[in-house]
Amino acid sequence: MPTECALCRRRIPDERLGDPQAVQEHHLRPERRAESPTVMLCRPCHKQVHALFTNEELREDYDTIERLRGADRLHDYRSWIRGTDKLDIRVSTSDHVRERR
Ligand SMILES: [Zn+2]
Ligand SMILES: [Zn+2]
Repeated sequence: MPTECALCRRRIPDERLGDPQAVQEHHLRPERRAESPTVMLCRPCHKQVHALFTNEELREDYDTIERLRGADRLHDYRSWIRGTDKLDIRVSTSDHVRERR
């Protein structure tokens, strides 16, 4: 069974899972890890989510995978990543996220 990223829905072939960080667990309610549901995201999606949203935004507004899939801010990214087989990307952190760190 290939692993599927919950956000971009790409299937990650088993032979690419030799890289243990290629697919990562995302806590839908950051900072509430003990009680938070988790989803498996490919590394590009996980990086992108944390580059575009503060933990507070994730917890308050995007704490389900359906909400993340519907997020306007991720729309262009998702269209792009689906057309690639990249398992690592460079992201630039949004100013509003950087300010909250
Ligand atoms: Zn993904
Ligand atoms: Zn995460």
